[in-house]
Amino acid sequence: MIALSRVSESKGAAMQYNTGDKPGEGTYRCEHCGYVVRITSDMESLPACPNCGHHEFEKIEND
Ligand SMILES: [Zn+2]
Repeated sequence: MIALSRVSESKGAAMQYNTGDKPGEGTYRCEHCGYVVRITSDMESLPACPNCGHHEFEKIEND
């Protein structure tokens, strides 16, 4: 039997990024208020959250 991995565990499996990181194209959500920031270039760095000023984001995977 193979158990499917679940992402909801509090193991910290989600990719986390901070202000100033250049994580590449994607959608990132402020961990404090949930504000969504979209990065459209590999040269673009994460700003401080425009809504609350927080500096930690997690990537939202879209498929
Ligand atoms: Zn925020």
